[in-house]
Amino acid sequence: MADAPLPGGARLTRREAIAVSAAAVAAAASPATLAVAAAARPLAPPIATAKGTIAFVCRRCGGREVTRDAWAAWDIELQDWVVGALYDYAYCHDCDDDTRLLEVDPATLGPTGD
Ligand SMILES: [Zn+2]
Repeated sequence: MADAPLPGGARLTRREAIAVSAAAVAAAASPATLAVAAAARPLAPPIATAKGTIAFVCRRCGGREVTRDAWAAWDIELQDWVVGALYDYAYCHDCDDDTRLLEVDPATLGPTGD
């Protein structure tokens, strides 16, 4: 799959090839198949979809290079790791230390109130 040739000799990366395959599977799936798949994955909507666009920054330095601990589960259909849970531990790569995150409006960098 990773060696899928493209016009002009370009090649897909493994991640790109998986994304193309997943899109093809989704496009070929019947509505009944999609309903079963949706029922099997009762995921909450993404935070950004529910609230509009948000960003997280380091509460100490305001840096945007922040990460959180999470666990991921293998998704056979997507052929990729899918985040299953996020933990409270956060790290700021700007000040290179443990941190707490602040939810902000990305346009103003002001707190959203949550
Ligand atoms: Zn920081």
